[in-house]
Amino acid sequence: MALEIHQFPCLSDNYGYLIHEPKSDLTATIDTPEEAAINAELAKKGWRLTHILNTHHHFDHAGGNEALKARWNCTIVGAAIDKDRIPGIDIALREGETYRFGETEAEVIEVPGHTTGHIAFYFADEGIAFVGDTLFVLGCGRLFEGTPQMMWESLSKLMALPDSTVLYCAHEYTQSNAKFAVTIEPGNAELTARRHEIDALRAAGKPTVPTTLAREKATNPFLRAASVELQKTVEQEGAPLWEVFGETRRRKDKF
Ligand code: ZN
Ligand code: FE
Repeated sequence: MALEIHQFPCLSDNYGYLIHEPKSDLTATIDTPEEAAINAELAKKGWRLTHILNTHHHFDHAGGNEALKARWNCTIVGAAIDKDRIPGIDIALREGETYRFGETEAEVIEVPGHTTGHIAFYFADEGIAFVGDTLFVLGCGRLFEGTPQMMWESLSKLMALPDSTVLYCAHEYTQSNAKFAVTIEPGNAELTARRHEIDALRAAGKPTVPTTLAREKATNPFLRAASVELQKTVEQEGAPLWEVFGETRRRKDKF
């Protein structure tokens, strides 16, 4: 692995991520949920901030951009579509474009739905992706700006990555997501087992993030629109998968 990843909790339920490439001495923060926490973690590691990689414009993701740029003079990379909403953006990228980060590179995947300009950063060589508020452990982001069709297409793009891909999500929402997931697919044994594992991790004060694409495909109701049991629960048997997804999302909103 060319990258070292440092994960830390911040705000009430966000995760901050610093990614560091020792060879080039580059360090990026994935989003800027909390300026002070990011500076404290940088100091702890002895790293200088050279980049900000933004997944989307929400305040708990881009709120620290300007203060961090003022302090570190770092380069801010974000979505071209959202260049007017990402404070201080320097490099604006579109679907499929890559950003070279030292020896490795990040591919931009446009994943609209939670916001219309949301992107994920996929480091193919490392087998990791930073998915922001698009996909959570056993959950997905709320549809603040996009439609169910749009979000389903975005999730389908993530599902097309290798199963072994390690997914870094921006929030620890897992326990409440799990409560909902078991009501939608009560017969999914892997999900039931996973719920117990999650409760044990949280009771021990440990994060449930990152996850892998394989585990999410097997247990995350928002990736499981093709499941017959799930389709029955949400009363969408044989419906287009985006509609099954949309109804699952609506039920979670009311849960
Ligand atoms: Zn958000
Ligand atoms: Fe968020």
